[in-house]
Amino acid sequence: MEHIFETDYNRILEKIDQIDPINYAKTRNNADGAVTYLSPYISRGVISTKEILNSVLKKRYSIKEIEPFVKELCWRDYFQRVAQAKDVNTDLKNIQYPVSNYSIPSNIVKGATGIKGVDNAIAKLYKTGYMHNHCRMYTAMMVCNIAQSYWHQPAKWMYYHLLDGDWASNACSWQWVAGANSQKKYYANQENINKYTKSNQENTFLDLPYEIIEKIEIPDQLKETENFSPALELPATSDLQINSELPTWIYNYYNLDPLWHKDKIGNRILLLDPALFAKYPVSKISIDFILKLSKNIYGIQLYTGSFDSLVKHYNLKNICYKEHPLNIDYYGTIENRDWISEQVTGYYPSFFAYWKKVEKKLLK
Ligand SMILES: Cc1cc2nc3c(=O)[nH]c(=O)nc-3n(C[C@H](O)[C@H](O)[C@H](O)COP(=O)(O)OP(=O)(O)OC[C@H]3O[C@@H](n4cnc5c(N)ncnc54)[C@H](O)[C@@H]3O)c2cc1C
Repeated sequence: MEHIFETDYNRILEKIDQIDPINYAKTRNNADGAVTYLSPYISRGVISTKEILNSVLKKRYSIKEIEPFVKELCWRDYFQRVAQAKDVNTDLKNIQYPVSNYSIPSNIVKGATGIKGVDNAIAKLYKTGYMHNHCRMYTAMMVCNIAQSYWHQPAKWMYYHLLDGDWASNACSWQWVAGANSQKKYYANQENINKYTKSNQENTFLDLPYEIIEKIEIPDQLKETENFSPALELPATSDLQINSELPTWIYNYYNLDPLWHKDKIGNRILLLDPALFAKYPVSKISIDFILKLSKNIYGIQLYTGSFDSLVKHYNLKNICYKEHPLNIDYYGTIENRDWISEQVTGYYPSFFAYWKKVEKKLLK
């Protein structure tokens, strides 16, 4: 059954309450496993990894018992820390090699590669805005390591369609698969894909032992490529009711936290900056999703335009926003996001090194 991403805040909190971190660890690698489906809410800043962890720990699990789950949450924080410290648009550790094209295989865009586990996942992505982690890895592996496409444009294609599109997690993960943010490219063969997607295919271009798959020529199915040129539809701005003497809280694609300064009086603006969306386009499904999520924030008003034009047009004086690497031209009072560990900051070259530090803090 396809998952439905509800947007009512109380329903989202119920989903946090339903997490089963033990069963999660046993099944998370299966395309139909007991994953949380919470990433669209984390990416959109409705809830945080810290909030999720605290909620699970209230049920008296120890960190050790639920370590696989905690680690996954920390992967999210880790990539956010990387994006604070580095430009994730450039190859982080190694230059991706070999690269035959800077576009995207047409059969990936069409979801017609012939590998059912991946084609079904792409169809589901278009329909629901979600793709299971393992299928994201398979897709990126076929694009970067089999079709030899440079990771950047295909990553933008996936980001565009994901409700949980998060440029830090996205770019770092694509780079990880392509060997640009890791020491080894990731490969999966047909047997592996069959196992985790419950398909049963043989004699495909991926039905090979690993020693061979790592050296194959680009198969015919992935030879044709195209440029990704997405449509972008942002809603029009209406006239805002602003009291410029009051504080203004800025919400955006990465911050839709209904609890943020909830009990204070002021202006609440959902800012959609066309320049940011031109650089990182998202689908209409994703825009509709955030408009619905924003309904959880009392009194919020929509502004489509730049931060600077908003401030100047409405003579805003006391502006507050949450820190995020993509809020580059904001000014005013900056507030921290929630982290599982606020104290572990800066760039760690490996997740393992980051995790060891965070784990130490958690076990204290
Ligand atoms: C090529 C590729 C692209 C990706 N792009 C994105 C993206 O744009 N946005 C995004 O949020 N995640 C991205 N991921 C990471 C991961 O696939 C998703 O976070 C996860 O599938 C979300 O589903 P879930 O909430 O059901 O995850 P669960 O398995 O239930 O995990 C719980 C939470 O842990 C975190 N998490 C789990 N796995 C990862 C991971 N591998 N990396 C980082 N955090 C993780 C997420 O916050 C997730 O919500 C990408 C992974 C790959 C391989």
